[in-house]
This record gives sequence, C-alpha cells and structure tokens, in this order.
Amino acid sequence: MIHEHRVLDPATEQLVATVPATTAAEVDTAVTRAAAAQRTWAALAPADRARLLRRFAVLVDEHGEQLARLEVTEAGHTLGNARWEAANVRDLLDYAAGGVERLTGRQIPVPGGIDLTFLEPLGVVGVIAPWNFPMPIAAWGAAPALAAGNAVLLKPAETTPLTALHLARLALDAGLPEHLFQVLPGAGDVAGNALVEHPGVAKIVFTGSARVGRQVMARCADRVKRVTLELGGKSPNIVFADADIEAAAASAPMSFLDNAGQDCCARSRILVQRSVHDRFLELLLPAVAAVVVGDPTDEKTQMGPLISRTQLDRVRALVPEDADGIRGSAPTGPGFWFPPTVLTGVAPDAPVAMEEVFGPVAVVLPFDDEADAVRLANATEYGLAGSVWTRDVGRAVRVSRAVRAGNLSVNSHSAVRYWTPFGGYEQSGLGRELGPDALAAFTETKNVFIGTEA
Ligand code: NAD
Repeated sequence: MIHEHRVLDPATEQLVATVPATTAAEVDTAVTRAAAAQRTWAALAPADRARLLRRFAVLVDEHGEQLARLEVTEAGHTLGNARWEAANVRDLLDYAAGGVERLTGRQIPVPGGIDLTFLEPLGVVGVIAPWNFPMPIAAWGAAPALAAGNAVLLKPAETTPLTALHLARLALDAGLPEHLFQVLPGAGDVAGNALVEHPGVAKIVFTGSARVGRQVMARCADRVKRVTLELGGKSPNIVFADADIEAAAASAPMSFLDNAGQDCCARSRILVQRSVHDRFLELLLPAVAAVVVGDPTDEKTQMGPLISRTQLDRVRALVPEDADGIRGSAPTGPGFWFPPTVLTGVAPDAPVAMEEVFGPVAVVLPFDDEADAVRLANATEYGLAGSVWTRDVGRAVRVSRAVRAGNLSVNSHSAVRYWTPFGGYEQSGLGRELGPDALAAFTETKNVFIGTEA
C-alpha cells in the first residue's frame, strides 16, 4: 500500500512535497468526526452559518496569491489561470453563503390541513476531485454542500493535494467547526473508495474519468447513495460560414489549449463549414503557433505543461505522428511538455477525433450544412459542452438546442460560471452543479402535513 504521495512540479519534475496517504481506517474516523461536526453546524442559525462561510471566503481572498502559487507549483497552471481559480473559490463561497438564508421549503395548498416542505441537509458528503482544476472543482462540491448544512470530506487527486489542504486550514481559521471540512489526500482506490463505500457518507460528488465514474456509480447503487458525476468531454466548436470567421479563428486556440487542454470542456473538435474551411485554417494555424508555451510562473505564458508523465504518455499515444496539421513549440528538457497541436485530414471516427485526449490537441473536421454539423457534433459518447459560431440568431438557437450537451455557448467558449448550472449529457455525467439550484442538490426534501380538522 502507498503510504505517501510525492507531489512533483510538472514544469520541472522537481519534488515539491510528500503528503501522507489516508488509509481506509482513517477515512472511517474522519466520517465519525464529520458526522458530529455536521450536527453542530446544522444546529447553528442560518445567518451564523452564512457569516462563517463569508469569513472563509475573505480568508481565501487574502490568501489568493499563496493559493495560486501553490496551484502553479503542483499543477503547472499558468499564474493567470491559477489566480482566477483562487478567486473562483472565493466567489463560490460567497455565492453559496448567500443561499444559506434563502434555502426555503414550500407551503402547498392541500385540503384538511397545511402542507410544508423542508430542505434538510444530507449529512456527510464526499467530494472526490481530479487534478485538472483542483481548487475550483473541490469548491463546486464543497461550498454548496457546506452552505446546505452538510459536512464535507474532500479527497483530492493524488498529484494535487496541496491547495485542498491549505483550504482546509483556512476553513478552520475562519471558525468553521473542527472536522466539518476535512481533506483526505490519498489513493483513489483506497481513500476514494472508502468514501464511496462508507455507510456514513450520504452523497458522493465525483469528477474525473468516465471509467472510474461508472465504477463509483455502481458502488453507490449498492447503498442507494446519492451521486453526482462530472466526467469527460469531447466538445465541438461549430463554425458556420456566416460567422465572424476572424473572431472564431482568433478565439479557437485557447478554447482547447487552456490548461494545456486538460479541461473537460475543451473544444477539441473544430467543425468548420466546408466553404470557409481553408480560410479558417489560414487564420487558425498561425494563431495556434503563436501561443506562448513555457514557464507557468511567467505572466506572459499562455500554456504550461501537462500534469504528469502518465498524462504525457496518454496524449502521445493518441496523436498519430504522421497526421497533417501543425504543431506549435514547447520547451524541451525536464517537465511534461506537449506542443499545441491541430490535426487536419483526420477521419471523424479516428481515436483522436472520438476520445478525450486531455491534452493540447484539436482536430479540424469539415461539414456541409446545418444537419451535417449537428450529426457530427453528436457523434460522440460525451455531451458536456459546445460552441456555435454564426451571425444567424435562429440557427444559433436551433443548433444549440440540437446538440446533446449540457453547456452551449454562442459566439463564445464560455462554459463554467458559478451562477449557472453545469453538467453533462450521456457519458459526460449525471446531475448538475453550480447555479441557483446548487444547494438543493445537497438536501433531501421532507414533506410535512399538519391536519387542521381534529
Ligand atoms: P480518475 O478518474 O482516475 O481520478 C479522478 C479522482 O478519482 C481522483 O481523485 C482519484 O484519486 C479518484 N479515484 C480513482 N479511482 C477511484 C476509485 N476506485 N474510487 C474512488 N475514487 C477514485 O482520473 P485521472 O486518472 O486523474 O484522469 C484520467 C482521465 O480522466 C483523463 O485523461 C480525463 O480524460 C479524465 N478527467 C476528466 C476530468 C473532468 O473534469 N471531467 C478531470 C480529470 C480527469
């Protein structure tokens, strides 16, 4: 059994820290303590819970630069991205805090009495986070779960436990009850699995691969445990001939190169109407080649390394060496570097066009008309996000409705905003996170009827 995890800087391969790996027995202890803390937390007045979460948000804000630098070191994110991520955690906590006092039930007209609903906390929630956006994804689960009155046990990915551990310290400093928000670094099949199988954990929020997500769901089914899954994607960026082609080409590179493509919403299939295909490529290829790849601590850097050697090997295995297209530049020497890559002339059913690469790689595929675009967009087992570039409002709406995915953007690549619901169709997941209903996903609805006739 692994007793500790070595955290490496993906840009240099230098050892940053070693972190003890939580055992199944330690998860059990953590659940018992979290259950006790949850009772204390749920008994507080809503205004007091909201105040404590706002104080937590203030501390995250004050430690934003420290958290961002930690994210750069353990995940190889660019400094600009990492600062946005720390600010996103702050905003999520603030937004969730605003919901504590608005988590109201309903009064439903019924004969013979009064009917009331209550939104009650689930108890202890397990959040299993991936390495691609360690801080925000942890907070997407943790912030609304805490706000709805639950305790949270967070299992960060093996490669990226440091920001999560720092957040847990800030929660304590903010005055949240001890053991209410615990971070349990460790192996997925040990600490993660122990959370999934523990009868004292009421819900699992899992973000990661579809393969592990399916296993988690099957194990949750044994206990009818609540589960939310945020899995992979292979999202289309659909460019119609009537679009602002210059704007579409200028924005396309970072829509799949951000976070070195390790983004479940990466627009990694660029579908371009045949009549503008060549013009679009003329604009896209130099724009991709110009992306600045290198030291993530340099403010000018737009793309850093991949997370690990394992991920680098996965990406290399999916990218055919003889495919046409362009490859940008990337540092040589230590670090897990892969250059920005756009492939043309790839068959729509080739593995690189169908499977989630989770690296800085996109394929460009031509289409003939609107129906062909929709058919290609939907020709994947995933359904997380997508972009539609057109000046025709009717077409924008028609295509957005026809693409089977949870998050569509028109003339933009936006996908994740904490104000709006986020989640996937089909193999991209189950359930929704974020948005106005985020807290409700961490509650049970209780219905109480009070007879007035007796
Ligand atoms: P993964 O699914 O193996 O790991 C995600 C999280 O689940 C980690 O915290 C891991 O420790 C935990 N885990 C692993 N096995 C577990 C188990 N049996 N029970 C409970 N928890 C377990 O993902 P990965 O290996 O880090 O990445 C592989 C692929 O997953 C990537 O190439 C990418 O396709 C996809 N991915 C998607 C997202 C996303 O946001 N949608 C994030 C990360 C990875």
